[in-house]
Amino acid sequence: MQRIYLDYNATAPLRPEAREAMEPWLDGAWGNPSSVHAEGREARNALERARESVASLIGAAPRELVLTGSATEANNTALKGLALGARGRERGGIRPSAVEHPSVLGPAEWLGEALPGFDTRRLPVDGQGRLHPERIGDHLDGGTLVVSVVAANNETGVLQPVAELAERVHAVGALLHVDATQALGRVPVDVEAWGADLLTASSHKLGGPRGAGALWIRSGVPVAPLLHGGHQERRQRAGTEDVASAVGFGAACEVLARHGEAERARIRRLRDRLWAGIARRFPEARWLGGGAPDVPNTLHVAFPGADGEALLMSLDLAGLAASSGSACSAGSLEPSHVLEAMDVEEPVSRSAVRFSLGWASTEADVDETLDVLPDLVERTRAFAEEDVPEEEVAP
Ligand code: PMP
Repeated sequence: MQRIYLDYNATAPLRPEAREAMEPWLDGAWGNPSSVHAEGREARNALERARESVASLIGAAPRELVLTGSATEANNTALKGLALGARGRERGGIRPSAVEHPSVLGPAEWLGEALPGFDTRRLPVDGQGRLHPERIGDHLDGGTLVVSVVAANNETGVLQPVAELAERVHAVGALLHVDATQALGRVPVDVEAWGADLLTASSHKLGGPRGAGALWIRSGVPVAPLLHGGHQERRQRAGTEDVASAVGFGAACEVLARHGEAERARIRRLRDRLWAGIARRFPEARWLGGGAPDVPNTLHVAFPGADGEALLMSLDLAGLAASSGSACSAGSLEPSHVLEAMDVEEPVSRSAVRFSLGWASTEADVDETLDVLPDLVERTRAFAEEDVPEEEVAP
């Protein structure tokens, strides 16, 4: 059975170009980029070429890019590094939006609890999960250190008005960190046009390998390293670099630089075809975040009356991988903090499934999904409606 993979916001399959570029670095070339001999120099050159490819895709200078092991590491480095850097002494306000990924909310909350002088308050969003530049000023002041915004939300794909937000953030002398993990490759990203001070990128969401990410830090922004040791990454991140993963990340960025626009148009057509098919079959279905500016690959749909988790499981059994807005925590299903911040009522968020498409998605994937969905949605609805008498519930 051919599986259908519609979970690109979780991770993407490796692009063949990335695999090909990595191969010599997995077998044959093994130099340490810090070594001065020929093997080392060859590794250094490959690493620097990869850095250039990633930097070029975000419109940044390569020397301002720190290669990391993941987007999670980049987000942690951005917030903790800023807090521990020079500015943290004067300003202690850390302001993530309410719809940030846990790899931003986690370090922000940790800083507020663990270190004196820091406080964390989340910036509220509207029903589509967007921040409003004209209202954000109410939450910022001269004590604000950093505002952190997710350029494209991982659950809904909704975009933030980053450039407008940057103006308001800079007006109080604070810094803007942009988590572009889900945006890079899906919309044009330019650190200068956005007015960002720090920006997080990830390899595996765009078809590069796992184990690679990047943090761009504008020159002069003081970010303390989290890892001390060797002099790698201009002393921002000690540890021997993973050349193969960096090379794969760079190769994926090069593909996007050449073909990104055409790929995005193709993916948008597929996503719109999926939504049109769903809306025709389920007039009551709700596109969560629909109507807002967004990335072209994401469709988070609520099927009122259905159970999202049960639907995901039956989709999986039918050969289709998607995702949901609820996360299993301590044995119970917690509604997603993103949908909660958007004021989506709990029965609606519990009925939702996230489809996310990518470079290898096809029209056949979409059409087969539309073929299997109606039956599965009806079945989970019927199941949800079944009234189980209390005495029949196992203890
Ligand atoms: N930020 C966003 C918006 C994400 O979607 C993710 C991954 N789901 C991350 C950060 C973290 O990425 P990783 O787990 O690859 O470190």
